[in-house]
Amino acid sequence: MRQKVPADLDMLVVGAILDIDGARPAYVRLRHGRVVEVGARGTEGRRRGERKIRGIVVPSPVNAHTHLGDAVSVREPPPGPVSQLIQPPHGYKFQLLANSSRADKLRAIRAALRRMERDGVVATVDFREEGRPGVELLREAARGSTVRVLALGRPLARPVVRTELARLLAVADGVGLSSARDETDETRRTVGRACKAAGKKFGLHASEAVREKPERYLDPRPDLLVHLAKATVDDLAAVRDERVSVAVCPRSNALFARQPDLGAMERLGLSVLLGTDNAMFHAPSLWREMEFAYVASRLRRRPVSAAFLARAALVEPWKWLGEPEAALVVPEMPVPPVVLRLPPDDPAYQVVTRTTEHLMVRFRPRSRRTATGR
Ligand SMILES: [Zn+2]
Repeated sequence: MRQKVPADLDMLVVGAILDIDGARPAYVRLRHGRVVEVGARGTEGRRRGERKIRGIVVPSPVNAHTHLGDAVSVREPPPGPVSQLIQPPHGYKFQLLANSSRADKLRAIRAALRRMERDGVVATVDFREEGRPGVELLREAARGSTVRVLALGRPLARPVVRTELARLLAVADGVGLSSARDETDETRRTVGRACKAAGKKFGLHASEAVREKPERYLDPRPDLLVHLAKATVDDLAAVRDERVSVAVCPRSNALFARQPDLGAMERLGLSVLLGTDNAMFHAPSLWREMEFAYVASRLRRRPVSAAFLARAALVEPWKWLGEPEAALVVPEMPVPPVVLRLPPDDPAYQVVTRTTEHLMVRFRPRSRRTATGR
């Protein structure tokens, strides 16, 4: 028996595209959420049975920095300096992780991933503590999720034990270390070299609570630096010259009264990605992160453009992953885009300041029924 075609099977979005090529007026035709046609606004024509909406089409966001294991606690942070909260190995966060059961952590990570799915996030770069078992737990939690998880694990022994590091890298996508000052030069070098040899990512936190020297966190050259909230303009220039990408987490920093200088990062031309950091303190929503980053930069009189922040969530991470084709809205794009019901005027400003998950168009999963019409 022939089923009624769902309303969202064929969709025409007339408005704008905001992607790796910037913002432009356009129409986008989609089928099952996949782009089948893109063209200049005004030339779209009409097809029978297709639903037409006004909106903006963007690449799917990637969360460039999370600690999803933290989601076991969602309470207000206790008073005290950040060092007592998140510093390994005895900070509040590490006590929480140590005192939570594996089942609780699995449940919490799954809930965080579901939240990301609803927000349209398709990949996340997660710094996972607790050694190889921590990465294995994350992998188990992510099974069945539509969010691709890049797990940057952390070896436990200090000094680093090569066999432990090799066993970690066998299951992880790389290593994500605590801050440069929490680790010795030897640890950074051993880990950095091993990641490079294995063709995996090496990331670390840098200049979060206090300024650290670029000579340290750039040696060896990492693939990703997180925060740089206390970096000077000269430090930022050094990072740019080494062509190292930076993941910034403005809400996480603001919770402890600091901010990355996004205006300077934009002016200097750094590759900046957006992350939501500790899941214990913030929902892993990049839309909320974007709006906060934009408004906070203006509050500090260090304004950053909406276009720069949109790129940090929707474009730069795809380049960092080596998959820039996912950031171009065309029929061949490998990852379906996100369609937002927003006015198409000044698209970057709309996307950064107005997007919430309920403005995302939901496409029904492609089932055999809808695919064959039977
Ligand atoms: Zn972090």
